Amino acid sequence: MTTVHDPLLTPVKHRVTPAAARRLKDLGIETVGDALRYAPRRYYHWGKLTGLAGLSEGEDVTVLAQVVSANLIRNRSGNGVRLVVIITDGMSRLTCTFFAKKEYALSRHRKLLQPGETFLFAGKVSAYQGDLQLVQPQFEEIESDSPEAIERKSGAPIPIYPAKGGTPSWKIRALINSILEGINWDAVPETVPEDVRNQHRLLPISRAFQLLHNPHDDTDWREAKRTLAWREALELQTALLLPRITGENKSRALVDTTGLVSTVIDSLPFTLTRGQHDAWQAIAADMAREESMQRLLQADVGAGKTVIALLAMLRAVENGGQAALLAPTEVLARQHFLSLQRLLGDEQLNVPLHLLTSSVSAGTRSEILSRLAAGEPGIAVGTHALIQDDVEIPRLDVLVVDEQHRFGVAQRDKLREGRDTTPHLLVMTATPIPRTIAMTVFGDLDTTAMTDMPPGRTPVATHVVSAANKAWMDRIWQRAKEEIDKGGRVYMVCSRIDDEDDSNLPSIESMQSYLQQVPDLAGVTVGIAHGNQKPEDNARALDAFARGEAPLLLATTVVEVGVDVPEATMMVVMGAEQFGLSQLHQLRGRVGRSDRASICLLVHMDGPSPVALERLQAMETFSDGFALAEADLRLRSEGDVLGRRQSGHASSLQFLSVRRDAAIITAARTAAMQILQADPHLKDHPGLAHSVQERAGEELMWLERN
Ligand code: ADP
Ligand code: MG
Repeated sequence: MTTVHDPLLTPVKHRVTPAAARRLKDLGIETVGDALRYAPRRYYHWGKLTGLAGLSEGEDVTVLAQVVSANLIRNRSGNGVRLVVIITDGMSRLTCTFFAKKEYALSRHRKLLQPGETFLFAGKVSAYQGDLQLVQPQFEEIESDSPEAIERKSGAPIPIYPAKGGTPSWKIRALINSILEGINWDAVPETVPEDVRNQHRLLPISRAFQLLHNPHDDTDWREAKRTLAWREALELQTALLLPRITGENKSRALVDTTGLVSTVIDSLPFTLTRGQHDAWQAIAADMAREESMQRLLQADVGAGKTVIALLAMLRAVENGGQAALLAPTEVLARQHFLSLQRLLGDEQLNVPLHLLTSSVSAGTRSEILSRLAAGEPGIAVGTHALIQDDVEIPRLDVLVVDEQHRFGVAQRDKLREGRDTTPHLLVMTATPIPRTIAMTVFGDLDTTAMTDMPPGRTPVATHVVSAANKAWMDRIWQRAKEEIDKGGRVYMVCSRIDDEDDSNLPSIESMQSYLQQVPDLAGVTVGIAHGNQKPEDNARALDAFARGEAPLLLATTVVEVGVDVPEATMMVVMGAEQFGLSQLHQLRGRVGRSDRASICLLVHMDGPSPVALERLQAMETFSDGFALAEADLRLRSEGDVLGRRQSGHASSLQFLSVRRDAAIITAARTAAMQILQADPHLKDHPGLAHSVQERAGEELMWLERN
């Protein structure tokens, strides 16, 4: 790989004055590349509407406007003066106010801000007596030979930059332009190969940066942004696919040896759905090869992923190997363990099945560890306790990871590294995630989606209820009692455990004392489960709930995933606006698990935001998790969708939108695959190789909460 000297990595302090460098640093700009990627928020046009009408309070704005009038007014107290300037964009008007102690302090303003003159004004929009205004805005005269004035004549759009820390847009623009002038464009590495550029009509990278900051017309900056989004998508997809193409990931080929899998399939109390059948076929075919399986299994809550995990793990066992299932919480690990036991049936078919969590006793733990270390064929289910350094699973052939997005690639790989053969990997998500997110976050995996459901499921009737509606709330408690009397179980979920802070959100603590006073619920035993309780206590509460001894379970989202109590027929989510859509869908998936009719009530407190309310209404409308996932994506803002695991900051995708750019992401994935197939080590693509290296180690994740 040739080393590329990338002018984009040059620190800006080598290019501008120290004072300017400090200003740029406040904007997060430290290198020439940062400056180029600092994209205008929007573009203004001279003579066209500048959008004074669309301003809202609290916004930092730069507006291009003409002075209508400027009047100096003495404060009534006789103490100080103010200059009130009315400006217009030709359609709407806005007031700008400048305050001073003495009149002379405003003399420059009065001289410049003459009616008919045009300026750029920058400041924060505030409201005064119901009207919007700018207080002490900065303003910039448009001189006749400035780029802005030239653009006024040519009609070119004027980039408006997100201004922060008191540096107005035009200063940012001047700084960026001075940096642009000093760049040796020929040395800027191109990351998108020419044939891909031609095929998808993309600009060369240098041209894209130039047009982003200095467009001649609107097409220029749109094409520039599209090119830059494409480039990010291609770099990201190449980074995701590269380890798969070049990696020496060899696994043991696992095939049907004893008919164990078929025996289990035949002994199940149900027949596999079409989706399960197809998913198992794909997985079995993957595992029959020496190239490691890396597969993502997407399915809705309750679609029956556990049995698929079991079959994959049994395939390891019948080949004399070991298998592990990694779950994110104790509750979930235990549930998986019990489900697997149940699916294996009474004889357990001589398959050793271990549960390894931090709450197993020291004695049990050391026994399990020694059996695992001895390479005994079998299945281990566990939490993080499975990835501790003292755990050895020498013949690990199949690794199933549930809820990958909570683990992260690094943790998952802990069980895969440092061995001669890599285990086959199956990742399962709790609920479907949107397609573009799957490609971005799980881009290193092949995807299988099971879109059907086991027969006999009754859709869960879902209602959004305001906590302020007393009649409805009373009805909820009544209904809970009715469900319990009919042999059902009721979950009641709160987002918090106690009332430490002063929010009015319901907590487990407050609900617990409240429920004691509800006449309808007199005599109903209430169980409690939450993260501050010992895992054993949670397990006990869940068992009592499952058996019907404590048929009302007051819990946090510890019940969000995996908990499988078929008798549960009612889910009440308190403060439902606090939860993300996929969480709500997970919670709802805890009921409707038998042929009994089930109900889900989403109770919101006073005044949820319009978006929060829309989210809850989406729950009423859609029962299909795949449809909900797409609706969720539409209702969120870009910054809320992806995060970066290491820094916790928003993702480093600056131009690519996982919400809007599905087509680009798909096309870039195909292109990345073709490039890597022809040139696995990117020898002919040094620019791309370099950027992929820079992206390595960054891990994007799907943020479930809002
Ligand atoms: P999830 O995909 O949410 O993990 P589970 O694996 O927990 O779903 O399955 C949910 C329930 O459906 C379990 O009780 C399981 O035994 C049952 N189940 C799974 N597959 C089928 C099927 N093909 N027919 C009937 N019931 C099934
Ligand atoms: Mg499950």
